[in-house]
Order: sequence, then C-alpha cells, then structure tokens
Amino acid sequence: AKEDGRDNVKIFQPEMANQASRQFHYEQALRIAIQEQSPFVVVYQPKVDAKGTIVSLEALVRWHHSDGTVISPGQFIQVAEEANLIIELEKLVISRVIHQVALWRNKGLQPIPVAINLSGRHLLSRELYGFVSELLDQLQVPGEWLEFEVTEGVFVTDIVKCIEILTTLKQRNISIAIDDFGTGYSSLNYLKTLPVDVLKIDRTFVEDCAISREDGKICDTIISLAASLNLKTIAEGVETLQQFEFLRNLGCNEFQGFYFYRPMPLEDIEALLEQLPAKQLSNQLLA
Ligand code: C2E
Ligand code: MG
Ligand code: MG
Ligand code: MG
Repeated sequence: AKEDGRDNVKIFQPEMANQASRQFHYEQALRIAIQEQSPFVVVYQPKVDAKGTIVSLEALVRWHHSDGTVISPGQFIQVAEEANLIIELEKLVISRVIHQVALWRNKGLQPIPVAINLSGRHLLSRELYGFVSELLDQLQVPGEWLEFEVTEGVFVTDIVKCIEILTTLKQRNISIAIDDFGTGYSSLNYLKTLPVDVLKIDRTFVEDCAISREDGKICDTIISLAASLNLKTIAEGVETLQQFEFLRNLGCNEFQGFYFYRPMPLEDIEALLEQLPAKQLSNQLLA
C-alpha cells in the first residue's frame, strides 16, 4: 500500500498473491466503505415505453474507491453476499433512493418510480419490510414510487416465504419485477403463484433477438406468457434500433438499454426529470 492511515486497506495489492488473502482484504475494504457510506454512489438508468418516453428509473450502485477507480457491482455484489454485507449495502441503496425520491418531490419535480435490485437473502430477511415501510412513512413517499427487482433464483429457496413477503410489499403498492428473466430456474408454477408485476427479459436474449431465430422466439414466448398472465414485460440491454423495433412489434411494454440511456449520475437524471411533462407522470402513477 502506498499510504498509511484510513486508506491502508488497498483493494488490489500485487503482493496479495493468494486468493484467500485477496478476498480478505477486499472484504475489509468493502466493510469499511459500507460503514463510511459515501464511497457508494447510486446512478440511475431510465426505462422507456414503446414511444421512447421515460416511465421509470433503475438505481444501480457504484463503488468509488479512494484510489479514484469506480468499481461496478459485478465486482463487489457477490463479495458482499459472501461476507454477509449485502443487506447492509442494500439498505444503504434503499435509503438513498427513498430520500432521493422525496427530494425530487420536494423540489417540485414529479418523481417517477425507481427500481432497486434486491438480493434473495435480503428479500427473505425479516428486516426488509420494516426497514422500507419506516422510510416510506417517515419521508411520506408512496410505495408506488418503488419497485424491487429480484432474480428467479430466490424463489427456489423458499417459495412460500417469498409469496408471503412479496404480498406484504405489494400491500404497500410496491411493485415487483423478476430480473434477468429466463436465465434462472424459472418454473411456470412460480409465475402462477407469485405476486409479481413485471418480467424483465434478460439481456442475453435481447442481444440477438433480431438476428437469431431462437432468441427471437424466446423473447416472443416470454412476452406472450407475460401478457397471458397479466404481467408487464421490459427488455433489458436494448442497444440498437433493430432490437427495439423487433421487441416492440412483439408487444414488449418497456425498454431499457444503451440505445436509449446509459446509467446516469444524479445531475443528468434531474435534468431529464425537469423536461418530463408532469401530467403524463401523474397519469402514469395513477395507472
Ligand atoms: P441488472 O439489474 O440486470 O442491471 C443491468 C446491468 O446491465 C447494469 O449493469 C447496467 O448498467 C447494464 N446495462 C444496461 N443497459 C445495457 C446495455 O444496453 N448494454 C449492456 N451491455 N449493458 C447494459 P451494472 O450497473 O454493472 O449492474 C450489474 C448488476 O449488478 C445488476 O444487473 C444487478 O444485478 C447488480 N446490482 C446493481 N446495483 C445493485 C444493488 O444496489 N443491489 C444489488 N443487490 N445488486 C445490484
Ligand atoms: Mg436490475
Ligand atoms: Mg437485469
Ligand atoms: Mg442483467
């Protein structure tokens, strides 16, 4: 490490040759960052409807390390899970987002729903509902402005408990999306019994949907299935006009991806929110 003091837990030290010691130091750095809170920054990626109008946002966390690097969640979410830090990290994100939505409202901006990614462990923990509820009450934020994205894997662990917990969240009008749909252990039986609102088609199917017959068919099937179960579909990772048009023609409801917007810092998102017509947003919130 170059310096001493609070930065002495370096993330990538060449001398940390073995995996165990690297893991240990990484976990330490993560633990400290979570305590400090400020190293974590939330960026927001818009989701749009078939007309390209922004209808909601997804919150995505970034770790700004003291050496100036920005670490993406792919590099630390799993570590956080293994080190038992994931719930604390997600609470930080949830709290940031709910405060942000309240701030937007107080600034006179029409807030729009924000989706937060949630680990299975946190979803199944007894603390989630109370934590979220209390923040919503305290800041007088309606549950409609919140959505949780969970991956299919969690349903396998304890479907009964999942139903119970999702039901309590839905009683507060929080909506639930199944993230990366189609890549996990989906069972049609889960879809029938779970109180979910949205299927989020995984990027791997979206990527080649317009050029691969198989991927196109998979997207078609997911969209039809969702429609017949009264669920909304959103395609993630839309990067081209061709993908957008293909999926829109299949009846996909919403779209998210670099073709429209990248995940953006707060200032840029606020500039976008300022341009949105308020009427359209309030209609959408009533829907
Ligand atoms: P995800 O929820 O499936 O989020 C989509 C990821 O794809 C994001 O990566 C986003 O930046 C990226 N993406 C969006 N549009 C495009 C596109 O058009 N092309 C490509 N190639 N990529 C696109 P990110 O931000 O690195 O997040 C990765 C994953 O980390 C997320 O996948 C999510 O599972 C997880 N994650 C992010 N924030 C949180 C969090 O606060 N809590 C938890 N538990 N997980 C999080
Ligand atoms: Mg997500
Ligand atoms: Mg996803
Ligand atoms: Mg994904």
